[in-house]
Amino acid sequence: MNDLVQPIDLSPHAAIRNEVRKLCAAFPGSYWRALDRDNLYPEAFVRALAEGGWLAALIPEEYGGSGLTLSSAAAILEEIQRAGCNGAACHAQMYIMGALLRHGNAAQKAEYLPKIASGALRLQAFGVTEPSSGTDTLALQTTARRDGDEYVVNGQKIWTSRAEHSDLMLLLARTTPREEVQKRTDGLSVFLLDMRAVRGSQLTIRPIRTMMNHATTEVFFDHMRIPATALIGEEGEGFRYILSGMNAERILIAAECIGDAKWFTEKSTNYANERVVFGRPIGQNQGVQFPIAKAYARMRAAELMVERAAALFEAGQDCGAEANIAKMLAAEASWEAAEACVQTHGGFGFAEEYDIERKFRETRLYQVAPISTNLILSYLAEHVLGLPRSY
Ligand SMILES: Cc1cc2nc3c(=O)[nH]c(=O)nc-3n(C[C@H](O)[C@H](O)[C@H](O)COP(=O)(O)OP(=O)(O)OC[C@H]3O[C@@H](n4cnc5c(N)ncnc54)[C@H](O)[C@@H]3O)c2cc1C
Repeated sequence: MNDLVQPIDLSPHAAIRNEVRKLCAAFPGSYWRALDRDNLYPEAFVRALAEGGWLAALIPEEYGGSGLTLSSAAAILEEIQRAGCNGAACHAQMYIMGALLRHGNAAQKAEYLPKIASGALRLQAFGVTEPSSGTDTLALQTTARRDGDEYVVNGQKIWTSRAEHSDLMLLLARTTPREEVQKRTDGLSVFLLDMRAVRGSQLTIRPIRTMMNHATTEVFFDHMRIPATALIGEEGEGFRYILSGMNAERILIAAECIGDAKWFTEKSTNYANERVVFGRPIGQNQGVQFPIAKAYARMRAAELMVERAAALFEAGQDCGAEANIAKMLAAEASWEAAEACVQTHGGFGFAEEYDIERKFRETRLYQVAPISTNLILSYLAEHVLGLPRSY
């Protein structure tokens, strides 16, 4: 395999990268193509990652995880994507538990984290987005009303990915009406919802078919009763808890985009070297070379920003701007590399068996989710550049 940056043995986290590559080799393009055709969940792949302990990278050792750094976790996800696999099937298992780890009480952590670390329980559903509120999270309408030792939840979520393949969901709901809160960010609470107890009765999950195989769903809560012990941290503080996990999520997804960009670029260069038209390799034409080279340069720049954001995060410093920039640049770089890859392959770029069209559909998501590019730009404009608030 042609290494695009440096021999893998010299790159950061070389041992991790080597092991992840070995695991991914058992899940080649044919595995993903078959699932993609029928919109099936990559159960065997997710199980292999969980059994290998890879999804527990960020869980401290005292709870059965491997207590690795964020940049190690980023290396894991990057390698998964670089191997042509799709970490979106389970990446959230790595980072959603951050809310529980940072804000949960000792009993909740002792109860859940070891089971999440071992893969016995899956916490990979994150219920934030709603159909009517969209990106405006503070306008969400799902309510959780305290009733004795329980909360009663009513409402709806959309795009709750992997809910059908998860035991637990991190749920954001309104516990105090918007008009009664002092600050607009108050009044939302986070719950660790055990879906096993309510699925099919008070909780309905409906799959949404999308242009890629993503196991995303819409979820309905109908007078769903959950124990008050499911509340994470303080009531009304949920929005802050969710925000505090977003930098890690953005950095990890940016690393996935870097992996995608490397996969596309490797495909492009290999094909451009091999495919002969007009008696010479197509890669000899600068019109073919330049889009690949440009996408490569953009990927390398984005990669530096991912590393910078992860380093700040690990040093406990504010990395909001860097995490957002990394996510935006990496998502754009993966898309540019994808576009160059399709173009380099001509008609074959559209053929299923090359995997390019599948990865092309998959990587497009990251300019919209988990946060769309416009919202990153408005964050930078307002919070970094001091421009007027736009919404
Ligand atoms: C496949 C998939 C999986 C997802 N998984 C999850 C998940 O697991 N959990 C979860 O909670 N959510 C999930 N999401 C939701 C995702 O985070 C949102 O789709 C995303 O944040 C955008 O929100 P929206 O779709 O409501 O778009 P909207 O908020 O309706 O925005 C639509 C467009 O308008 C733009 N826009 C909106 N407001 C402004 C503004 N003020 N200035 C400039 N532009 C603006 C946006 O950038 C966007 O391009 C997923 C989405 C998809 C498609």
